[in-house]
Amino acid sequence: MDYDVLVIGGGHAGIEAANGAAQFNLKVGLLSMPGVALASTPCNPSIGGVGKGQVVREIDVLGGLMPVIADRAAIQVRILNESKGAAVQSTRFQVDKDVYAQVAAQIVGSISNISIIWERATSISKADNVFKVILSSGQSVSSKRLIITTGTFLAGKLHVGDNTTSGGRHGCDSSDGLSDLFSSVKTLPLRFKTGTPPRVKKSSLDFSKMVIQESDPRTENFSSLHPLRDRFLQQVPCHITHTNLDTMTTVRANKHRSPMYNGKIKAVGARYCPSLEDKAFRYPDRHSHHVFVEPETLDGESIYPNGISSSLPVEVQEQFLRTIPGFEQAEILVHGYAVEYDVVDTLELDQTLQYRAIPGLYFAGQVNGTSGYEEAAGQGLIAGINSALAHLNREPLIINRADSYIGVMIDDLVTLKRDEPYRLFTARAENRLFIREDNSIVRMGPYRRSLSLNEHIDRHIDVYLQEYDLLSSLVGTYVVRERNNSRLSEIICSHPDGALTALENFLNSIGAKFSPRVVAAVAISTKYSGYITRAEQESSRMLNLGEKRIVWDKVLKSPNISTECKQRIEEHKPSTFGQLKRIEGIRPATLVTVASEFL
Ligand SMILES: Cc1cc2nc3c(=O)[nH]c(=O)nc-3n(C[C@H](O)[C@H](O)[C@H](O)COP(=O)(O)OP(=O)(O)OC[C@H]3O[C@@H](n4cnc5c(N)ncnc54)[C@H](O)[C@@H]3O)c2cc1C
Repeated sequence: MDYDVLVIGGGHAGIEAANGAAQFNLKVGLLSMPGVALASTPCNPSIGGVGKGQVVREIDVLGGLMPVIADRAAIQVRILNESKGAAVQSTRFQVDKDVYAQVAAQIVGSISNISIIWERATSISKADNVFKVILSSGQSVSSKRLIITTGTFLAGKLHVGDNTTSGGRHGCDSSDGLSDLFSSVKTLPLRFKTGTPPRVKKSSLDFSKMVIQESDPRTENFSSLHPLRDRFLQQVPCHITHTNLDTMTTVRANKHRSPMYNGKIKAVGARYCPSLEDKAFRYPDRHSHHVFVEPETLDGESIYPNGISSSLPVEVQEQFLRTIPGFEQAEILVHGYAVEYDVVDTLELDQTLQYRAIPGLYFAGQVNGTSGYEEAAGQGLIAGINSALAHLNREPLIINRADSYIGVMIDDLVTLKRDEPYRLFTARAENRLFIREDNSIVRMGPYRRSLSLNEHIDRHIDVYLQEYDLLSSLVGTYVVRERNNSRLSEIICSHPDGALTALENFLNSIGAKFSPRVVAAVAISTKYSGYITRAEQESSRMLNLGEKRIVWDKVLKSPNISTECKQRIEEHKPSTFGQLKRIEGIRPATLVTVASEFL
């Protein structure tokens, strides 16, 4: 069978890639391993979170699937970082993992120009500009554009205690067969690693010893086509408990049995996603760490204890679990483990995620060394759209890092040398006051419009942007006579009850009706406009700061710089701003802080 675009891997990156390409009416093949559900969630079934909620909303505007699926599968919803302001505020949904995969299968299955092929790709070759993929059945499929989204499956190895097996995740084969292709694709010299905690039986836990966290009804859905706050499933609470001295002593006493600490695993994990072993050995004086107790499904027995991922032997996992309040009788359903895998060197990719040396070949998702469902989905969508645009000989879609977290991520991936898995954080973005959840349509709408598609989301974006422009210009120009001829924008910015309340009050007073999403975006943008202008000025000032001297040990004292960046600064001891800028892994937000606080 011959396709216009062929995607290998039906995870979060893969389904977005297939859908992204299919929107252009191309013939798309989606090849995925039998026995692994589409968009399955091998780690915590939660979508969104800090920096990631913004990505989900960007995917929404670009016509992706994740926001729709997450809304339909949500069982506990929350707004994170609310007290820190709208810029870094993010939505997080706990989802029912079975419903998530079912909805994904239903949606992808209903797209008539996507054919799902449940087979394993065993080898790939390219001749006369056509990729030929051999399947486990011995048959083959071909396509001029190939998108690889094989997640943690490339040369995947699973570790629990002394036990090492080949596999992409629990119960799944690895993708060793793709090495034919990978002999001509540069992978990083390092392997990456991620891990997951043991899943425990709900009925074996005592929730009365934990702090309850209810679903927050004020949380807005991810999809702008869904009603603002209607939930599709019943909502259930999550809980919080914590480790203690006994837990950490158990872990520390078994250091020699930990594959991460006895030298068996050499791969690097994400610094900001530490396993329980990392917590025990990196912070030897700290014993209390949060454990978020989260259901994997609405009605099922499986609980995900978030925060204690481990690859210690199963009996040690059982032992440390039972020291945690509420877990005294905990029964393990599936043990925790770590997975090591190969990663493509993304410096070889262009901004469309195409492998520069092999035109027509794209990579997206965890195979690119990122971590997280949202990062994977964002990349998949960009690779899918761009493969279609390339097939149609159209201009590529390049998303600017100043406009979006997807842009920040892709720019970082293709320009920065990396030595650990990549996760999105708000601190990675220079422009985080602008790239917020509330204004995703304002930021991403023009990119979507440039694709000239005519789906439901496109008509919605047109209406939204018209309303947004109208209300913005009203706020920018309206003068309130009864308030000493003050500008409405000034009144909004200084209102004691907040910008949104001020704007809502004003609209009520003149009897004007706008969509709540538009009103929120205009209110918050008005509130932030001065800060955004100042941030833009800082960014342009930074371009000329190369030889300015800095005192690096003073920089380490700033509360506004992340621990990771501080560690890198301490290692390199830069004496000029230019040297600081050239250190691998230094985030734009750190540069902005140094420029504004130390020069
Ligand atoms: C054990 C574990 C722990 C994790 N922990 C975290 C965490 O703490 N935090 C976090 O953010 N993320 C975590 N993740 C990562 C998260 O699962 C991924 O970021 C996300 O699923 C990546 O999506 P993806 O589409 O790139 O790959 P995946 O979701 O892994 O999908 C890959 C797909 O490719 C298919 N495939 C692979 N090889 C072939 C082949 N040869 N032929 C056909 N199909 C193939 C597979 O069947 C699968 O459907 C973890 C993953 C694992 C496995």
